[in-house]
Amino acid sequence: MQTFDLLISGAGPAGLCLARALSGAGLSIGVVEQQPQAVLADPSFDGREIALTQRSADTLRRLGLWERIQAFDAAALSPLRDAQVLNGPSSFAMVIGHGLTRRSELGWLVSNHLIRRAAWDAVQDSIARHGDITLIAADGVAHTLVDEQAAQITLASGAQLRARLLVAADSRFSATRRAVGIGASQHDFGRTMLVFQVTHDEPHHHTAWEWFGHAQTLALLPMNNDPATGEHRASVVLTLAHQRIEPLLTLDEPAFNADITRRFDHRLGAMRLTSTRHAYPLVGVYPHRMVATRFACVGDAAVGMHPVTAHGFNFGLRAVETLSRELLAAQAAGCDIGAPEPLARYQRKHRLATRPLYEITRFIATLYTNEAPPARLLRDAALRLGQRLTPFKRAVAASLAGGR
Ligand SMILES: Cc1cc2nc3c(=O)[nH]c(=O)nc-3n(C[C@H](O)[C@H](O)[C@H](O)COP(=O)(O)OP(=O)(O)OC[C@H]3O[C@@H](n4cnc5c(N)ncnc54)[C@H](O)[C@@H]3O)c2cc1C
Repeated sequence: MQTFDLLISGAGPAGLCLARALSGAGLSIGVVEQQPQAVLADPSFDGREIALTQRSADTLRRLGLWERIQAFDAAALSPLRDAQVLNGPSSFAMVIGHGLTRRSELGWLVSNHLIRRAAWDAVQDSIARHGDITLIAADGVAHTLVDEQAAQITLASGAQLRARLLVAADSRFSATRRAVGIGASQHDFGRTMLVFQVTHDEPHHHTAWEWFGHAQTLALLPMNNDPATGEHRASVVLTLAHQRIEPLLTLDEPAFNADITRRFDHRLGAMRLTSTRHAYPLVGVYPHRMVATRFACVGDAAVGMHPVTAHGFNFGLRAVETLSRELLAAQAAGCDIGAPEPLARYQRKHRLATRPLYEITRFIATLYTNEAPPARLLRDAALRLGQRLTPFKRAVAASLAGGR
């Protein structure tokens, strides 16, 4: 049986960032992933444009991902200067400007597949420098057993691995979290998100849109202009009932372009699809606990956010920061990294950092998809009131920027 100090199940962005954050401290780290290595090394475009807070950008700089993303594509990091929230057919918008913070932008937008590729490359760099990470790909975790002595997993191939601590980074529907007996509250929003990239005629001025239209929600995430053609580019997120998303996945391009231009009420002129289309069902998940005996979860396995407030991966990075700090301190003090104390401290801090926004996001997503006339009136009133309340807008701006 192969033995490690720490095992991570899942080599998504959270699992890889955790391995990178812990590398070089004398810990032996095993990362287990069900997908093949070729997919991890060169992940394909998945439609997601991830809004990163300034705090997350700092974390990615420290982990060495930021400059790798820039090296892949000089236009890959798009500044998010301002954000506006619209309701129904009205042109009134609540604007959250970067001027409410001390930065020249609220945050950044980066394609998820580039984050994953940079995380993979950074881990390869850690392996070359420290030789302390073992990646086991194309072999998923099939069975999990944790007790006071050790955490033990059996892979689909039958291989058995043992460690002082097992960290689940295997998505919001984490099978390892469930295997150790941690349940979760789930909220199925009954909606699906369709994500894709477009070019459009009118400039977006690097302003993100969240538009709670009637019977649809639209988000526009501003990207840098196409360096080759100078065209304005954005990522679009359209939220509808799944039965209305399905036909859009295969609608021919001219009809799709006309449909999306009409949905945006021609406010950015003609829009043209430039990428593949990807659909994601919307289910929020918050586990009852984030730790158990010799076990912790990070990333979506710790908090499965609704994307409307753009905090899923930001919280994933926050978990990496908090847990790695606890584990590195335990390691430096010569203590057991799987002991209950550092894990309890991680859980307390991460719940405190995430639970309020998880609940607020759930409330917003429910209110702003409720089509009953009182809900429409209430959200219109809320936006108009919000626009006048500078302290409220400052708090939203601080949340988007991530604080320190
Ligand atoms: C449409 C959309 C838009 C989003 N926008 C934003 C945004 O603007 N800002 C933001 O911060 N976040 C955003 N997010 C959230 C963000 O994408 C996620 O938080 C992030 O990708 C989760 O990373 P992860 O590593 O925790 O999980 P995942 O990316 O789900 O990775 C989990 C990994 O575990 C592996 N795995 C699963 N089971 C096993 C097993 N049994 N054995 C081994 N491996 C296993 C999987 O193959 C996968 O590689 C968005 C999400 C969506 C869907």
